[in-house]
Amino acid sequence: MSAPAIVILGAGALATARRIQSVYAEDPARPAGGMCQVHALQGRVDADVSYADLGTHLRELYARGTPIVALCAAGIVIRCLAPLLSNKGVEPPVLVVAEDGSAVVPLLGGLAGVNVMAREIAAALAVPPAITTSGELRFGTCVLNPPEGYVLADLGQGKRFVSDLLAGESTRIEGDAPWLDDAQLPRSSSARLAIRVTPRAWDGREDELVIHPRSVVAAVSVASASASASASASAAIVSRVQGALAAHGLSPMSLAALLAPSDSIAAPLLAEAAARLDVPLRFAPTRPDEDDPAPTHLLRAALRVPYETLSDDTSTGIALAVSSLAVDPSTIGRARGRLTVIGLGPGRADLMVPAARQALDEATDILGYDTYVKMAGPLRADQRVHGTDNREELQRARHAFELASEGRSVVMVSSGDPGVFAMAAAVLEALEASQDSAWAAVELSIVPGVSAALATAAQAGAPLGHDFCMLSLSDNLKPWTIIEKRLRHAAEADLVMAFYNPISRARPWQLDKALDIVREYRAAGTLVVLGRDIGRPGGTLRTLTLGELRSSKVDMRTMVIVGSSTTRKFASGIEGAGGTEWVYTPRWYE
Ligand code: SAH
Repeated sequence: MSAPAIVILGAGALATARRIQSVYAEDPARPAGGMCQVHALQGRVDADVSYADLGTHLRELYARGTPIVALCAAGIVIRCLAPLLSNKGVEPPVLVVAEDGSAVVPLLGGLAGVNVMAREIAAALAVPPAITTSGELRFGTCVLNPPEGYVLADLGQGKRFVSDLLAGESTRIEGDAPWLDDAQLPRSSSARLAIRVTPRAWDGREDELVIHPRSVVAAVSVASASASASASASAAIVSRVQGALAAHGLSPMSLAALLAPSDSIAAPLLAEAAARLDVPLRFAPTRPDEDDPAPTHLLRAALRVPYETLSDDTSTGIALAVSSLAVDPSTIGRARGRLTVIGLGPGRADLMVPAARQALDEATDILGYDTYVKMAGPLRADQRVHGTDNREELQRARHAFELASEGRSVVMVSSGDPGVFAMAAAVLEALEASQDSAWAAVELSIVPGVSAALATAAQAGAPLGHDFCMLSLSDNLKPWTIIEKRLRHAAEADLVMAFYNPISRARPWQLDKALDIVREYRAAGTLVVLGRDIGRPGGTLRTLTLGELRSSKVDMRTMVIVGSSTTRKFASGIEGAGGTEWVYTPRWYE
């Protein structure tokens, strides 16, 4: 389950919010759950995330399936979420907590563990939780909400079963259900009703509550010829797995993982098949002398728990392993490693694209220049950070591939966009130069970000509203003569120019030289926008003319946008009430 969002309206709730946050701060049981953050109403109080409108924010969190702990009146939350309640899809836990921590009320998400959360939070606040679910009150646990690794076969049947128990019947327990040991269930070995924990499919009997442990691993062989992408090839794997499960009377819900040979680690059909089966995909090494390894070998190589093998792999190409308990997929063989190169945007959290935030939340390892890694936070204690000096880019790229080829989920951070004078090109350069097939097997993706030129332009208005170019004035990786030539051509072509890396202590004279060249082609009155630390604390934006621009007004944290001959500015506002100055380049040309 993902980490809860703690939502507050004012400063009075902050202390209680922080106490609740500490319950979920670094929970190793929720490795992909992201950070538990305090969301606060903009302008009222500063916390981790700010929101503008409570109703909109709560509805967004709810729709995304994020558990909500709201520190306000229950009625407010009910009214905000009411429009979403009639169509009951996946319901995250929703709780309200009194600002002073004196009451913890679970509202929604009974099957998503809201009562468990209510108990956790109430324990931290040293108050009794306001549990209202009858089954939960009577038995001390929600029988219909088994722990991680277990799934209920049929919710409707589960509800009937619990009402039979509430009506006074007792039950047997068959199979291993360690989480029910402490439950106050009315037990009797001769009971008509039975809770059965089994990977076998439920046959529809009404006197049974069937809970499946995710205890079955399906190993598949993949003929190299079919390893290419094809919807029908992945559908064939899915139906082979489903057929093997059905042949042994096993429920598809008992499947813990799909296991395949490591030499087909990059085959898209496997990823597709695992996605269709809705299970993680894991890999085990094949022996070098085997072309088409028998799936039973894979099981032997990958499983670290005792199991029974069920299928005849020679006829179906599938072997099933059944363990007596749920199997944690992360312990089976290894995963395909991932390397995601992301851009953080200029700095502000809300200018980072959600895909980048998601990659960060899912990462095991984070690499990048120290300043950017800090900007990417807050990170969890279980995430490894490999900070480095900014200059070692290729080395950092190689390090990222090494980690990812061990099966880790690596995120490489850049500021702005990773493809604009940043790490994405270095990563591809390292990959192209590598002969290592393990690097080629890494699942590489690049997530775009809001580049400094775009963030600066947006704040100024629309200076990039017509044709423009982006230039780095750094001659670290290219000769200065090339920079001069490009400046001349761009200036002559009347393109708006965005200068990255305009100046640094090691490159003191280059900006003046560049401006001299631009001034040969552009009038002194040409508008220039300087954005410094845009989207970061203390950020400034200035508009001046090319004639007024001096290199002393620019540093390495500045974006310089030199307008074209048509770039213009105007002030807008109500007379006497001040106004905003906008800079833009019209879409048309004269
Ligand atoms: N990948 C980054 C650019 C890296 S080059 C991006 O797409 O934005 C570094 C240069 O970008 C700096 O020298 C500065 O010119 C510019 N820059 C980066 N972040 C900035 C910010 N927040 N405000 C202004 N300029 C910034």
